This record gives sequence, C-alpha cells and structure tokens, in this order.
Amino acid sequence: MREERYDVVVVGAGPGGSIAARTAAESGLNVLLIEKNQEIGVPVRCAEGVSKRVGDFVRLPKECIATEAAGARIFSPDGTCVELSEKTTQRRLAEVGYVLERKLFDKYLARLAADSGVEVRVKTQAVSVLRNGSFVKGVVTKDAFGDTEIFADVVIAADGVESKIGRLAGLETRIKPADLEVCAQFYMTGVDVDEDFSEFYLGNSIAPGGYAWVFPKGERSANVGVGIEAARSKNGARALDYLKAFVRRKFPKGRVLGKIFGAVPVSGPIKSVADGIILVGDAARQADPLTGGGILNAIEAGRIAGEVVAEAFERKDFSKDSLREYEERCKELNESLMKMYKARLLVSRFSDKELNRLARSLEGVKFGELNARELLKELIKRNPRLLTSLAKLFLS
Ligand SMILES: Cc1cc2nc3c(=O)[nH]c(=O)nc-3n(C[C@H](O)[C@H](O)[C@H](O)COP(=O)(O)OP(=O)(O)OC[C@H]3O[C@@H](n4cnc5c(N)ncnc54)[C@H](O)[C@@H]3O)c2cc1C
Repeated sequence: MREERYDVVVVGAGPGGSIAARTAAESGLNVLLIEKNQEIGVPVRCAEGVSKRVGDFVRLPKECIATEAAGARIFSPDGTCVELSEKTTQRRLAEVGYVLERKLFDKYLARLAADSGVEVRVKTQAVSVLRNGSFVKGVVTKDAFGDTEIFADVVIAADGVESKIGRLAGLETRIKPADLEVCAQFYMTGVDVDEDFSEFYLGNSIAPGGYAWVFPKGERSANVGVGIEAARSKNGARALDYLKAFVRRKFPKGRVLGKIFGAVPVSGPIKSVADGIILVGDAARQADPLTGGGILNAIEAGRIAGEVVAEAFERKDFSKDSLREYEERCKELNESLMKMYKARLLVSRFSDKELNRLARSLEGVKFGELNARELLKELIKRNPRLLTSLAKLFLS
C-alpha cells in the first residue's frame, strides 16, 4: 500500500472541511483535504439558504449568490402568515440572508483552501482510520489507483451527516430516527414566487415534525422541499410523498428540473474530540435542530477547529485534552444548539390547532431581529402557558 504523510488530513470538502483546512494551512501546516465525490459541491444536498452572517467568515463572490432575501414568511396550517421582514422589525435595514449557489460556493471555499496551500484531492474516499493505541494517526483512502495510508497528527472529520470517520475513531455518532430530518427537494421552474421572501410551511399533514420550504432562486425558479422527522413518517409516506402533495397544491404548473434527497442531523451537538481527531459540522451534529440550517455552523466550527489544531501543533500535543479546546470554543454555539433542540422537541409535537394559535398570537408584532431565536422569544412572551418550558431557556 502507498504511504504519505501530512500534518493534518481533513475528510470532506463541504463548507466545514474547506474552512478548517484553509485555517490550518494559513498557520503553515501541511494539510490534505479529501473529498469522495468527483466534483466539490456536487451533488447539492441543500436548500441553500444562509444568513448574511456568512460574510463574517468569507467574502462572497456574486456568482455564489442566487438571490438575496429581504425576509421570510412562515405559514401555519390554516394559512396564517407570520412575516419577518423590514416591515415587521425594529431594524431599518432587514438583513435576512442569501439563497446560495452551493455548487459554486463549496468550490469557492475549497479554492480558498487550495490558495492557502492545502492539497485538495477529489474522488478520494476515507475508508478507515489509522491508529496508534488510543490515537488516530491518519486515514486509509481509496481512489482510482488503489488504497493509500495517509499518516497525519490530526484528522479533522468534516464528512457530513453520513460521517463514518468519527465512529471508526470510537466516538458515539449514532442518531436515533427522532433526531434525523429526512428531506426531499425539487429544483423547480415556472413557479410564481415572491423573490424577496423565503417561505416556510408548517403543519402535520404538510411535514410532520418538520416543514416545507420555498427558497427563490431567480427567474421563476425555486428550491421547493420538505423535511420530516424520520420517526414520524406515517403509513410509510416518505418525504418525497409529502413533497409531491405540497407541489401539487402549491405549484401545479411548475416543472421539476432536479431532485435531491438528503438528511439533516437535528440531535444537537455530540462529543467531538478524541486523541488525534476533531469532528466538524454535520459530522459533529452542529446543524440547528429547529431550522435544520447547518452551513454557517459548519463554517464557524471549521474555523475554530483549524485554529485549535494550529495551536496543538505549537504544543506538539494532539491528545483529547489538548484538542478539547475546540469544544470549549464551540461552547456558545453548542449551548445555543441545545436550546434549539429543546425548542424543537416541544414545537414539533404541536397539533395544527396549536400551530395556528401560535401564528395568530404574533399579529402586529415588531421583532427585534430577524431570526428563529427572536421569533421564539416573541412566541414565548405571547404564549407563556403553551411554551412555559422554554421561557427559562430563551428569556433569561
Ligand atoms: C435537503 C437539505 C436542505 C438543506 N438546506 C439547508 C439550508 O437551506 N441552509 C443551511 O444552512 N443548511 C441546510 N442543510 C444542511 C446543510 O446542507 C449542512 O448542514 C451543511 O452542508 C453541513 O456542512 P458540512 O461541511 O458539515 O458537511 P457537508 O456539506 O455534508 O460536506 C461533507 C462532505 O464530506 C464528503 N464525505 C463524506 N464522507 C467522506 C469520506 N469517507 N471520504 C471523503 N469525503 C467524504 C461528502 O461527499 C461531502 O462533500 C440542508 C440539508 C439538506 C439535506
């Protein structure tokens, strides 16, 4: 078997992996980034919505942005609409988010990594981990030429929801069906959507334990999808069946140009370091359990991972205790995700009647900011009995 040696090997060239690799390389480390697919960013398994906070981490080139949203509309089962926009906030300038072109965005992030000196290898899959006692010491990769042992002092596993590397390294990464959203999405054209707004549709017959979304992509096209809790798929109905029903009602004249299927971990974060290894992004279950959004969190965690690994090299200490600094610095993010997990447990069990009541309670509200947390705070204030268990978490 061939053998190679790097300081750091990063598995998975999604947003988390590329940012982690770039950050580590910027401190002078010799970094290899591997991606099992033949093209970075393809296939897209994402609705591509992201907050404008992404600009705190990377400067976005125009071609990575499909549309800019001025707001979001959330529809309860009876059609009551809660609008989050400039009109309904105290802020003058509503800064909601972008709908990305992830195909280009993921490639752009990998290019930034390559420009910082990272070696990027596509169509290369990590199939097992190399160990020395309790320490992970690299990975075995498979590509068109066979297997290679890649030795490294640290492995950063950013291998997404299907992550195997963490489990192979002995971390507990199993997800129970109740903590997994399974999703189906159509890329549609010929749909009449308000290009300024992302839309979310709630209801137990629309998407049990999840929601349906319509994210505009410009020129009468949109990502239209449904995510449902894996444990609540009734009578064998799959996310695709719910999506087909939604599309029949909402866009009977639309045409489907693309279909994707995927899953989002909504368990909240797990233990993500062991001797010689750090998990990042969906692999560390860092997607937001309430909204399912994981791009920004993967980027934030990726940057922290890269920084912590660089510091571990200064100390020449790659033990779990040394790398635990990563969990320390992710603490604020992780605590916020655990709160969203608790909110999800409650909200995803509401009946349609309760969801309608919640939506109606927000009539005329002026929000402080435009995000799910702010929305929850207003809901708690207006529905203290229904949401009593969340008050301590979000209002204190
Ligand atoms: C249908 C759907 C819609 C979504 N919509 C949104 C949204 O609108 N906004 C949002 O913020 N989030 C959304 N998400 C979640 C978001 O896509 C993820 O949270 C985000 O991509 C996580 O980034 P990551 O870098 O951790 O992992 P990923 O982006 O999943 O990247 C992991 C990479 O690792 C590679 N890989 C896996 N195993 C190996 C291996 N053994 N060897 C080499 N490479 C490997 C994969 O091919 C992949 O490229 C959605 C998810 C789904 C499924």
